[in-house]
Amino acid sequence: MGTFAKVLLASICVVYLAVKWNAPTLDAESLRGARVLVTGASTGIGEQIAYHYARFGARVVITARREKVLQQVAENCTRLGAQEALYIAADMSSEQDPEKVVELALEKLGGLDYLVLNHIGTSHFRMWDGDVEYFKWLMKVNLFSYVQMATKAMDALEQSKGSLVVISSLLGKVASPFMAPYSSTKSALNGFFRALHHELSMKKSNVSVTICTLGFIDTDAAMDKVGKLTDVPAASATDAALNIVTSGALREEELFYPWSTYLVTLTKDWYPPITNHIMQSIFKYEP
Ligand code: NDP
Repeated sequence: MGTFAKVLLASICVVYLAVKWNAPTLDAESLRGARVLVTGASTGIGEQIAYHYARFGARVVITARREKVLQQVAENCTRLGAQEALYIAADMSSEQDPEKVVELALEKLGGLDYLVLNHIGTSHFRMWDGDVEYFKWLMKVNLFSYVQMATKAMDALEQSKGSLVVISSLLGKVASPFMAPYSSTKSALNGFFRALHHELSMKKSNVSVTICTLGFIDTDAAMDKVGKLTDVPAASATDAALNIVTSGALREEELFYPWSTYLVTLTKDWYPPITNHIMQSIFKYEP
């Protein structure tokens, strides 16, 4: 290895260690008794988020559509150490359910410290087929219900100096083939919650907004749909969930998980033909 390469490598290591060294660490005690509402928590990343809050001794309300599965997850939360674990079955495509869930959670918990918006409607992995009704429905589930819930919870979060944690995707930053409606809902989510973050900062609000940009994660749903069609390695849902809980508690503006998603976000506009080539070749496809 040449001298320049050695110096460059050493510099990168020093910067990495300096950033790691100065990074704030999670005060686990701050989550004991914290009042938390997690959506899409019957399975996948949301379920793992609920378990991490439970291990930290939080009071957790979880929601999704399947009541029986939620009941099982709530029991697991209690076993893992949650001070309280309750569930509310609700459908985020309904007009009323998003606000009703926040109302019920506030009633049950007597306030709210964390609102973690994580659910998604069933996403098809296929080329755009012109199904505008499905797209509207997905916008309702993946975007408008998030806006409704955040709006309903805002006063309570303001009172508790609370945190809004929004689960987004790398595909909200880099558009992907086969997932045009999903990519669009995640881009819109980023746009809305970035704007809200600015407004809350300008108003000197107590509420923090953390937007989580996730790459490919090994949940059953993602592996079923995409696992066989790409060689991109999937990161662990449990690790992703712990990073999400930590970033929310540290009131960070943005989380990138795994770290490579940050690199892709940084470099995507440097030379668009490369990004285009990557996005069109990461999935196996025969026309
Ligand atoms: P899953 O499909 O595993 O879980 C989705 C959750 O949403 C389930 O709990 C499901 O429960 C719930 N849900 C589905 N439809 C509705 C509805 N209409 N109303 C209420 N709840 C509903 O998703 P993941 O865990 O894989 O993803 C979680 C988050 O992470 C999402 O925001 C996703 O965009 C993001 N993400 C995931 C990636 C991945 O590779 N896994 C990559 C990038 C981002 P139920 O069926 O009981 O309603």
